[in-house]
Amino acid sequence: MLSSKIDSMKNDIVVAIQGCLRIPSVGGDPVEGAPYGAGPRRSLDWTLAFAEKMGFRTKNVDNVAGWAEMGEGPEMVAVLGHLDVVPEGDGWSVDPWGGELKDGMLYGRGVIDNKGPVMIALFAAKAVFDSGMKLKRRVRVIFGTNEERGSKCMKRYVEAGEELPVAGFTPDAEYPIINAEKGILTYTLSMPFTPSGGMRVLSLSGGVASNVVMAEVRAEVAIPDPECGRRIADAATAWKGPEGGSVKVDWDGSGDRVTVVAKGRPAHGSTPEKGVNALACLSDFMSGLRLRDEQGDFFRAFSRLVGFETDGRSLGIAMGDEVSGPLTACVGVVGLNAGRVRFTLNIRYPVTVSEDAVTGPLLRALAEGGVSVDGAESAAPLFVPPESRLVKALQKAYSDVTGEEAGLLAIGGGTYAKSMPNVVAFGPVFPGQSYRVHEEDERWAVDDIMKNAHIMARAIVELAGE
Ligand SMILES: [Zn+2]
Repeated sequence: MLSSKIDSMKNDIVVAIQGCLRIPSVGGDPVEGAPYGAGPRRSLDWTLAFAEKMGFRTKNVDNVAGWAEMGEGPEMVAVLGHLDVVPEGDGWSVDPWGGELKDGMLYGRGVIDNKGPVMIALFAAKAVFDSGMKLKRRVRVIFGTNEERGSKCMKRYVEAGEELPVAGFTPDAEYPIINAEKGILTYTLSMPFTPSGGMRVLSLSGGVASNVVMAEVRAEVAIPDPECGRRIADAATAWKGPEGGSVKVDWDGSGDRVTVVAKGRPAHGSTPEKGVNALACLSDFMSGLRLRDEQGDFFRAFSRLVGFETDGRSLGIAMGDEVSGPLTACVGVVGLNAGRVRFTLNIRYPVTVSEDAVTGPLLRALAEGGVSVDGAESAAPLFVPPESRLVKALQKAYSDVTGEEAGLLAIGGGTYAKSMPNVVAFGPVFPGQSYRVHEEDERWAVDDIMKNAHIMARAIVELAGE
């Protein structure tokens, strides 16, 4: 009954996702009534109106999040997703905002991350209620508009006193079930960097975001004489770094400054060991140039405390656990400001470790190295035990539909599951699949969309039922 109900909704589900995809909802600067930009607000309004038409009770939470609810009972279970998307970027073979359906694939920015799953959740909940099943809990689909830029929307939902679910999942990662997400600490660190001496760094900048390994950094260096320029150019030719790292010097042979460009390899902040940090290449190179005073001190200190390491060893925080693996550290962005050099360090620590066990030795090592902490943000780890009712219920739903065993995964962290208790990431990507999330031609097979609808409906029954 439930299963055939869902199959009968196939066309409606596809059309609903298409409608949602046609609203460009890339996050942007605040405008009146739209704290995260006009696009995200418009997609929020559209989704609330759509859900209301389907028969849900709805609420707009301070123009940054919304919810749609059905059913009765003192307790509520939730599906969490987001309507904001990352910029479309270049290289698409179709209109990224067209919601095009081609050869059984639905194309569009956000189709899988994460508008599709939000729309599927609405239909899955409706199918459950329409099929006349008796549930003892209410079912709420909660959608935010700031996931890609910090999840402040869900923070607002919680702070606004909106009801928290007794159990829930967020289909914004992969199957089977992610029951462990590492803790995240993001630091902005700085050291004095006043130029002195004939050879001195005038500008220094690199990186795109704190959660991406810095792939390139450029330094403009003033030189007192051509001899110095020649020496730097020769040193660059002779420099040998790790595979994927390089240093190049741009100098016309006569000017009074050279540009040093160090390159590494980008990687996601949760897997920095797959990248090469460009600032480590630059620091290793510059340390050999005999820069004076504060500037020389910075490059030497950086090489000694961080360098090419991604496990925090020299910072005294190398650690790991069986559930979630080793601590990782990612160097993301560097720049100069008011006589200081500033860089970010994004640390992901194991789920069974307390934040203090990381910050204690870390802050000590930084202080001893002369590094100041200018800013810090933290998100606690998430761990839901394998034997919990939530995990068991989702495992059953997944296995019932796919016939596969539902194993548990640990990730570097950062889904909506962290924004409120009793939530884990569950779907929507099946093991081994790649649907170009955050890339050009983001797409999703309609068959998988429907498989997700069946799994979500089963999960809702398991969580909201007896
Ligand atoms: Zn997402």
